[in-house]
Formats: sequence, structure tokens, C-alpha cells
Amino acid sequence: MEFKEVRVPEGDLIRYEKEKLVIGSRPIIGVLRGDGIGIDITPVMQKVVDAAVSKAYGGDRAIAWCPLYAGLEGLRHYGSEFPDETVEAIRHLRIAIKGPFTTPIGEETHVCLNCAHQQYHGGKCDQCGTEDSVCDRFRSINVRFRQRLDLFACVRPVRYFEGVPAPNKYADKVDFILFRENTEDVYAGYDYEAGGEMAKAIIALIKEKDGREIRSDSGIGVKPISTFGTERIVRKALEWAISQNLPSVTIVHKGNIMKFTEGSFAKWGYELAEREFGDKIVTEKKLWDEFDGKMPEGKILLKDRIADSIFQQIQTRPDEYSVLVLPNLNGDFLSDAAIALVGGLGLGPGANMSNDIALFEATHGTAPKYTGMDKVNPGSIILSAVMMLNHMGWNEAADRILAGMEKSICDAQVTYDLARLMKREGREGVNEVSCSGFGEAIIERM
Ligand code: NAD
Repeated sequence: MEFKEVRVPEGDLIRYEKEKLVIGSRPIIGVLRGDGIGIDITPVMQKVVDAAVSKAYGGDRAIAWCPLYAGLEGLRHYGSEFPDETVEAIRHLRIAIKGPFTTPIGEETHVCLNCAHQQYHGGKCDQCGTEDSVCDRFRSINVRFRQRLDLFACVRPVRYFEGVPAPNKYADKVDFILFRENTEDVYAGYDYEAGGEMAKAIIALIKEKDGREIRSDSGIGVKPISTFGTERIVRKALEWAISQNLPSVTIVHKGNIMKFTEGSFAKWGYELAEREFGDKIVTEKKLWDEFDGKMPEGKILLKDRIADSIFQQIQTRPDEYSVLVLPNLNGDFLSDAAIALVGGLGLGPGANMSNDIALFEATHGTAPKYTGMDKVNPGSIILSAVMMLNHMGWNEAADRILAGMEKSICDAQVTYDLARLMKREGREGVNEVSCSGFGEAIIERM
């Protein structure tokens, strides 16, 4: 494939054959630095990954990083914050990892191309003083990647790191991964203003066909949940559980109230699991009917929970959950609630995936006031790289990074955000390190 700005390095193109990724020993992986603190965290992540791969496999494996450009870098390279070439390059390479991207908020907002600071006028940047580098507003780049590449699964692992002050008594038992459906539900964009033509038409249709009244001054949202959308996210969750030898998959839904959307999500999920993974799963009902409550060796327990109860359960018995699969809205809420359990902040990794494409990402924003200061916590993008290595089947390298990060936090070699929390908890001997210093601490301990 010919590109204008992208220089594809020597290495192995990742292929997708018979519904599986084929990864060579020198896979080419896209890297999008991101705006703001992307400049600090992304190179640290690359250094940590390279060190882990080298330690795990000697010289037998290595990643060939391929820089791609979007956001403020996209504007510099292509004059567009969301270049078609970058989208096509991700499609071509199949795996990429990215830093955060700025999304101007509010009608008049402008963004500084240098530090990602947002302000209400063009010209000179109020924060870094760069002249003539402020551009006009644009739409969310993250959302556009999801839409253009049909990245239907938002994947968020949540786990505890010893030494991180966490509000929950059982935080050390938290180790689960959420698969949130990314394209349907009330986020599909069918949201109609009260009094508008669409809201009025839908209210009239319901009156005519169903005989029921909706107040005429109501805004109307539509919540589509399809068999297709449900099956592909549940399949993805089950495939992950199988590939990582995880004990259970829980379908989370509010089917007691919304029978034909949330309830169907659970029903179709169970049907798909029985049909495609019947030899690998045991449902909770079967567990008691056929196995007297004793989990048979090598099987995955498939269960479902009502959405409101799961918010309690992840706090009171987190160790009973491993993989959770949810429709869009509840997935959004639960992802944030779950990360708070383990101390929140900086450390939550994530990815958006389709069947053959995966875009791993830092889940925090661009934190413009820290741009280029080598100060912030690179934990989120590093843990996203751990997910990426697991996704590639390079689990030994992933484990090295996790071990290095666990040990760095235990030894209290941490960036300012964690240092502040640890000191507040009365921890002694806390050594506040820089962003790159945290990377080095991980490498030393992996
Ligand atoms: P933010 O996450 O950028 O920053 C909020 C605060 O959180 C920062 O001031 C800082 O104190 C702290 N923080 C964030 N990341 C940190 C890290 N790695 N280490 C230590 N502390 C960290 O959120 P915001 O200020 O609401 O958003 C700024 C910009 O980022 C906006 O343009 C927003 O649209 C964008 N954003 C992008 C993503 C993404 O690309 N995934 C996610 C959220 C926000």
C-alpha cells in the first residue's frame, strides 16, 4: 500500500486469516503519539515495551513501530486532524496504540497546536506563548476512529496494584475486564428534541399503534440493540476469556425492565454462547443441575447479572467476576465505577476493537498544563500496551511489564499523582519520579 506521509518500517505485516491474527516475529504496529501529554507518555510506553519484549524473547522478537499522525500532529502533516491516510494505515496494520487526543469543548474554542491548550481565540497561545499556532475547533477524533473503523468493542481491564491507595476494602480482589458494546443502545444517536418533528412523529406513532400516551413535551431517545451487535460483542468477550484462561463471563443487563433490548442482549448472548462455545462454557443453571455446583475442569462459567446489582457486587464480591460484557450505557457507567474501586486515576488502560482491528489507548485526556514537562503518569498507556501484547499472544512480555509496574508502585517509585495519594495515606519513603523516570523504574524491575 502506498502512503504519502506514513513510512512503514521493515517488518511483518499483521494478517487476519481464518478469523485469527497472524503475528510474525517483527510485527509492524502503528503508534499515534497523541496531543498534549501524549508527547511525554507515548515514547515512555514504547521504551518500556521494547525492553519487555527484548527481556522476554532475547533478540527473537521485536516490534517495528510505525508512526501515524492524527490530532494536532495530523494538522501539521496533512492539514487535517483526522486524515484518511491514518485511518487507512490503521486498517492496513490492524494494531495501533495511541495517546490522548484533544477535543475542543464549546462553540468558540481554539486549540494550540503546540501544547493542546484550549482557549476562546486564535493567534497566540495563552499558555505556552506560541504565536500563530492556534487552530479552530473540530469534532472528537476518538469517536471518529470508532465510527470509521467500526470498533464495536470498548475493552477496559480493571485491576488493583498493591500500594495504590484505593477506597474499597476489597480492592485487592479486583481483577476484571469489561467488554462494552460501542455502537448501539442510547448512544446510537437517535436522540430527538422535545417538540421537534421526529419526537412528535414518534409520540404519534406510539399513540396510534400502541394506544399509549407519551407527554407531548417529551424529548425522545431510541435504544436499538440488535442480535448482530449483541452477538459480536459477546463472542469477543468469550474469545478473550478462552484465550486468557479466565474463569467466567458475566452478561450484565437490565432485562427485568427493558425486556426486548437489555433482556434480549442477555438472551441472545446465552444463545450465541451455547451455539458457538457450547463445549467450553457451563451456565450457572447447568452448574447446579448437572455438576452439583462444582465447576468442571477447564470450562468457563457463563452467568448474567442485573445491571443495578452488579454495581453492588463489584464492591462487595469483586473476586466473583472476571469478564463482564455489557450494552453501551451500562458499560459506560460501570467502566468508570470499576476504575474508582482500585484508586481510579492515571492507571486505567483501554482499547477499541473490531474483529480484525484493535486500537489501544490511554484513557485519560491531554492534560495540556503538563505538556512536555515529563511529569505525568504514563501508567494508562503502558497498561494499554500490556493489553496489546496479550492481544498479540506475547503474554511473557506483558507479564514482565506488569511485574515491573507492580514492583515500582510497591517500592513507591511513582509519579506525582500517586506520590500525593501515598503521602496522604501516611506512606513513608515515597520517591516522586518523572514520567520517564517511572518508565525506567519499571524497566529496572521487570
Ligand atoms: P484530562 O484527563 O486531560 O486531565 C484532567 C486532569 O487529570 C489533569 O489536569 C491532570 O491533573 C490529571 N491527569 C490526566 N492524565 C494524567 C496522567 N496521565 N497522569 C497524571 N495526572 C493526569 O481531562 P480534561 O482536562 O477533561 O480534558 C483535556 C482534553 O483531553 C480535552 O480536549 C478532552 O477532550 C481530551 N480527552 C481525551 C481523551 C482521549 O483521547 N481518550 C479522554 C479524555 C479527555
